[in-house]
Amino acid sequence: MGSPLTRSVWLLKTDRLKIVGVHPLAGFDKLLHYKVPQTMAEQVHLGSLLRIPIGRRFILGIVGVVGAPDDFPVDRLKNIAEVVYDFPALPPDLLALAKWMAVYYAAPLDGIIETMLPGAVRRAAGLKQEKLLVVAEKLSDEDLAKLTKRAPQQAKLYQFLVGQFKPVGKSLVLKRLGVGASSAMTLVKRGVLREESQRVKRIAYDDDFAAGELVAALPHKLNDEQAAAFEALKPEVSQPKFGVTLLQGVTGSGKTEVYLRAIHEALDAGGGVIFLVPEVALTPQTVARLRSRLEAIAPGNAAVVWHSHLSEGERVDGWHELATGAARIVVGARSAVFAPVQNLRLIVVDEEHEPAYKQDETPRYHGRDVAVMRAKLNHAHCLLGSATPSLETYANAQAGRYGHLHMRQRIDDRQLPYIDVVDMRIEIMRSRGLTTLSQKLVGEMRDRLDKGEQTILFLNRRGYSSSMMCRSCGHAEECPHCSITMTYHRTDESLRCHLCGHERSAPVRCPKCEAPDIRWKGTGTQRVEEAVRRVMPRARVKRMDADTMGKKNLFRQVLSEFRAGKIDVLVGTQMIGKGLDFPNVTLVGLVDADLSMHMPDFRAHERTFQLLVQVAGRAGRGDRAGVVVVQTFTPQAEAIQFSRQADFDGFAEAELKSRKDFRYPPYRHLIHHSFRGPNPEKLQFFAEQWARQVEKTFGDRIEVRGPSPSPIEKVKDNYRYQVWYFTNGVTRIIGDLNKLRQGFAWPDDIIQVLDVDPVSLG
Ligand code: ADP
Ligand code: ZN
Repeated sequence: MGSPLTRSVWLLKTDRLKIVGVHPLAGFDKLLHYKVPQTMAEQVHLGSLLRIPIGRRFILGIVGVVGAPDDFPVDRLKNIAEVVYDFPALPPDLLALAKWMAVYYAAPLDGIIETMLPGAVRRAAGLKQEKLLVVAEKLSDEDLAKLTKRAPQQAKLYQFLVGQFKPVGKSLVLKRLGVGASSAMTLVKRGVLREESQRVKRIAYDDDFAAGELVAALPHKLNDEQAAAFEALKPEVSQPKFGVTLLQGVTGSGKTEVYLRAIHEALDAGGGVIFLVPEVALTPQTVARLRSRLEAIAPGNAAVVWHSHLSEGERVDGWHELATGAARIVVGARSAVFAPVQNLRLIVVDEEHEPAYKQDETPRYHGRDVAVMRAKLNHAHCLLGSATPSLETYANAQAGRYGHLHMRQRIDDRQLPYIDVVDMRIEIMRSRGLTTLSQKLVGEMRDRLDKGEQTILFLNRRGYSSSMMCRSCGHAEECPHCSITMTYHRTDESLRCHLCGHERSAPVRCPKCEAPDIRWKGTGTQRVEEAVRRVMPRARVKRMDADTMGKKNLFRQVLSEFRAGKIDVLVGTQMIGKGLDFPNVTLVGLVDADLSMHMPDFRAHERTFQLLVQVAGRAGRGDRAGVVVVQTFTPQAEAIQFSRQADFDGFAEAELKSRKDFRYPPYRHLIHHSFRGPNPEKLQFFAEQWARQVEKTFGDRIEVRGPSPSPIEKVKDNYRYQVWYFTNGVTRIIGDLNKLRQGFAWPDDIIQVLDVDPVSLG
């Protein structure tokens, strides 16, 4: 072996020159080549995060290729400047996923990589940890004597450190001894000393909201349905193979318990796990529960938490734990699908139908669809769970592409709440005018107040200003070509279809029943709150919506007051529906069930059904049965009728039939293309030119609808237009479409955005 001094010389001679191709994170899509200096060679791998010189700047980049052809012009290459982490920040599976996303979502690769690597991680925030020095190999007396003669500073440092029991802070020791950093560096390079890093851990623990909650830690004994579901999942997760399973289980059927068992199985098989929850459901309460259950079921496995409210330090630490393999489970919202979990075996997507899984800025990816792709790249399993699956997922399961498991019973056979549908057309006749709260709902609320039980009133905020619905007969005008509700444009008093652009002037009277004043005014939460106070002056009422709840703490405060029984009636938008259990709530009222049904969106009925089921799930979770009152102008609608029995399959069958007739998703894919610019005529002109160009180029590979003005025509003095494309397969056309788009002569003042598989047309 010889002494460490001679060995390092030997290494220098035999190492080959290392060249890497780097994807710069700097707003352009290109692979740039660099040389790796000997001293860094061992830290540089596929997926390493580097700092590289470009012009006079240093920027970040990810190693996309290691090595280069033999005849590569090496001489002109620059050296990389720094290796940010000494392990791959973007493991190969994530790099492959990024490349797939870049194609599928027609988005630049550098932006996708930035989405995958949190800003704090790229900045290496909190990792400016203190460097420690320790002796790696003792020198022989002979070598030490030589060193003392040749480099007294180095010898001094060595002699000090060799007398220490544990590593010593580098800057401190250099300062104390008056030794330069270069001396330390030389000894490190020769393998005599070793540098170590010391980090302070700041893993996010549950904050005050969850403190004081009693968290049940003991695993439940599975009931028959749960056991059957778990048995079916076991072989899927215990060995590496790709597959997707839909777990369709009614609210309260105990899906979480099945997820946990599957997770345990994956961990036992040595795998890593990603658990995705919609951001709104990711309350500290949920996290605390999951954590304690995970730790009970699989001791020693701490879960990393991943959401948008983490501090930089917490985020970097959590990321670091996963990337180095110190932790194997992550629980988080959409972006946790990119967590650097090693040896990934299982991805769980809870509430897979939630539109919140779709990111509404570039890259516009769908967390669930990306989860399926990531599972595929890793030969892992993807478990999608919901009481009301998206029709896309449902259709995949029906077609046999996904496994399909059912859980039809609630735990302990608890009753589903009774759903009472109130026909608001009759209420209006009875009260001779508009009314916010039906007699039925008022009666039930008074009854709850007498008994000391609580009520939640939900308002449906979506689609609020853009629909036009007759309040006598419930009629809403639909586009004859697209079968979606037309959008009311105030500026020119018109109704337009924003899929195809079909237009007519807005009627003053209802086209069906001739009732006057069809124009929608809507009921805000404020109006509902006032109505409640009018009919029940004694009740303690609180309102909770985006306007009143700007501050996060206020939101929590109201919820804890409600939980403590200091509020009788809580009025709010959908945001109070998710992930919260209030055992004393025995009445839930949905004030305006129709609004989401009249969204100008072919998914309007699907969303309404989901909302109804979710709202119903809020009532009677304790040992008391609950009542749900649904106020609607269209009681005969399928979404409402099927929701009374929580009959998802019945609803899905009816809805899929109409989707098929119009060849909407899941029967075809939809791509949205939007255009913005200051000059409306110019915008319209270019949008039309473009749409005709697409038609000419693609023929029947794409069906083009539009251009038409966006539902909100103007934002901040920018006008907006849109075009829709329907296609049988995104991957078959997206590359060509993107190329055509990049080659098209867009004026500088028009900005355009592509959105593949949009989840909302509103
Ligand atoms: P879902 O997600 O399907 O709506 P949850 O997973 O939230 O349902 O389960 C509903 C409730 O039932 C939870 O309080 C859970 O602790 C409880 N639970 C789940 N499985 C069992 C079981 N096997 N025995 C008893 N209680 C259970
Ligand atoms: Zn239309």
